[in-house]
Amino acid sequence: MTREANRSKHSLASRVYVPALSIAAVGVVLVGIGWASRWGGANFAGSMASLRVVVSGPLTLAIIGVFLVVERVRPAQQRPVFARGYRQDLLYTVLNATLVVPLVIALTLSFSEVVHRTVPWIVLARIGTVPRWAAIAVIFIAMDGLNWFVHLTNHRVRVLWRFHELHHSQEDMSVLTVFRTHPLIHVSYLIALLPGIVLLANGALPTMLLVIYGGVVAFAHSNTNLGFGPLGRIFVSPNFHRIHHKLDGPQDVNLGFALTIWDQLFHRAVFPTEETIRTDTGLPGRPLVVEQEAEQPRHLRVFAAQLVAPFRPMNEDANLPSVRSGTRRSGAVDQATRGLAPPGDVTVRVSVKEGAFT
Ligand SMILES: [Zn+2]
Ligand SMILES: [Zn+2]
Repeated sequence: MTREANRSKHSLASRVYVPALSIAAVGVVLVGIGWASRWGGANFAGSMASLRVVVSGPLTLAIIGVFLVVERVRPAQQRPVFARGYRQDLLYTVLNATLVVPLVIALTLSFSEVVHRTVPWIVLARIGTVPRWAAIAVIFIAMDGLNWFVHLTNHRVRVLWRFHELHHSQEDMSVLTVFRTHPLIHVSYLIALLPGIVLLANGALPTMLLVIYGGVVAFAHSNTNLGFGPLGRIFVSPNFHRIHHKLDGPQDVNLGFALTIWDQLFHRAVFPTEETIRTDTGLPGRPLVVEQEAEQPRHLRVFAAQLVAPFRPMNEDANLPSVRSGTRRSGAVDQATRGLAPPGDVTVRVSVKEGAFT
């Protein structure tokens, strides 16, 4: 590389975080491929209508409405009705219901088309002996598992973390925090579509199931003191997911979307205790600008800054995700989940024998 090229590379790196551009580039290329292939013959408008039903259809709005009431009745933390965080997450809700829906459909159809073209052999034909409900169950569980895995990579791969940290920056969590995500983070979740593509001839997830899935994930973010009793060992409850957002971390535990089985399988489950139920959430030191920071909330300005943030130059060590740092033997998680571990000390007490992911 010439000295001139080297200099321009350095000056670019001083103005933008170059790896973040690669995520945007993947998105642009995918959308371009989809556009050029006419979305593989799929019905773009029809797919968009289905996703709109999931994100902001009447049933989804009713479910969110009920959750918003439930979190007032049984709050984990007492907060004003119009807390700053709630207003900010309302902006993300509008963003999702408008611009994010077509983006996700474009990415989904393009990704599906690329898979069909490049690795057509992974798409299975109809297996006569497999009932549809069984194929749907397999797709659902595999999709949830892949979502779990991508979520872990969001915490472990720095460029992905820069897009994911927005979700973790919320200090006033509510049902609407489910929408507080960077639009480009959806690029990383595309692989969770694979089970649905592979088994499409055998069954497809009904829109209603996706509405329920979205409802469970949304409710997990609500400010509700609820652990689901024995069902909390299988399904992600608000008290379980809040530990994932805990201010004093670690945040690479309780990564599950709807099912807790993946966290249990990989020794990352930390079940709620009295101490964790009312815990504060957010990021220590506020590496990302948040609406709670200044005297005035300045919602729109903060909103723009939060969306641009992943592309801003790295502030070296100040921007790392909070992850578990210990290498202790397994069994310690059980201790922590029973409330025997000192508060905030879960980090160093859990096993990382699944080091393949780190
Ligand atoms: Zn996370
Ligand atoms: Zn979350």
